[in-house]
Amino acid sequence: MKGGPLAERVRAEVADDVRELGQVGLATVQVGEDPASTIYIRRKHEAADEAGMHSVDRKLPASISQEELVEEVAALNADDGIDGILVQLPLPRGLDDAAAVTAIDPVKDVDGVHPFNAGELYLGRPTHVPATPLGIMALLDEHRVPLDGARAVVIGRSDIVGKPIAHLLLQAHATVTICHSHTDDLARQTLDADVLVVAAGVPEIVTTDMVKSGAAVVDVGINRTESGLVGDVDPDVAKVAAFLTPVPGGVGPMTIAMLLENTVRAARFRRGLLAFPGIRG
Ligand code: NDP
Repeated sequence: MKGGPLAERVRAEVADDVRELGQVGLATVQVGEDPASTIYIRRKHEAADEAGMHSVDRKLPASISQEELVEEVAALNADDGIDGILVQLPLPRGLDDAAAVTAIDPVKDVDGVHPFNAGELYLGRPTHVPATPLGIMALLDEHRVPLDGARAVVIGRSDIVGKPIAHLLLQAHATVTICHSHTDDLARQTLDADVLVVAAGVPEIVTTDMVKSGAAVVDVGINRTESGLVGDVDPDVAKVAAFLTPVPGGVGPMTIAMLLENTVRAARFRRGLLAFPGIRG
């Protein structure tokens, strides 16, 4: 399940939408200089620029106060040329992630992290949903992986991947199990999975003996090791699974494409072209 071809298609559609809408603006806020965050932000801006969006890259010093950060977000909320705002998490120590995301206007929250959007997803009426889970659902749909009645196992319970993908799978009528670092006997859970989504951030935590034959396996993990970039799933799992997303080139490209799509949705909603923000529109 490569992400590249589908991501290219989504990005081409986004570029068409941007042309049609005239101007679409995406702003990112990065506090401090974490090198991995800088790379992710750069990729997002390259993709936004390629799609013809107006993109704003706010880089703030790690010494910034919570109040100053909230003021920066408030200024972007008030900027009519900005449709989507993304605050790169986690913030440096001393700053409150939750307070920063709560400061984002929910309509512009294209990362789907504001409590309003997270709550709407929990209630089964999703609005802005985080890009990575949306990308995973798009990949599963593209490969016609049956979800209704399927057993889905998610490893990881973060607000940005594990919890939202579990909710989306639940809404697609899968029977969902969420595993985490306190889960006893992970293999007992994963061996039951028709669909296995792995977002633990632990190199090759899922091995061939943990996967049911014919399962669809989505590897979200991005781990920098001495032998290069590896996922959370041993690539040999491809011998057992019906589908496996590669790392790199699987979920990563989809995340960026869906962030752009979310920004177009925010722009449409702000122009009165959608009844609700986000995917519910
Ligand atoms: P977090 O660190 O926020 O969450 C990791 C989750 O995995 C936690 O819920 C944790 O459990 C669980 N976990 C950790 N170790 C184990 C274990 N041994 N067994 C079972 N569960 C475990 O990470 P994210 O969700 O933000 O990201 C996960 C991975 O996905 C990372 O590698 C990240 O780089 C990658 N990522 C990739 C993206 C892409 O576009 N491809 C986008 C976003 C993330 P607990 O809650 O108990 O601590």
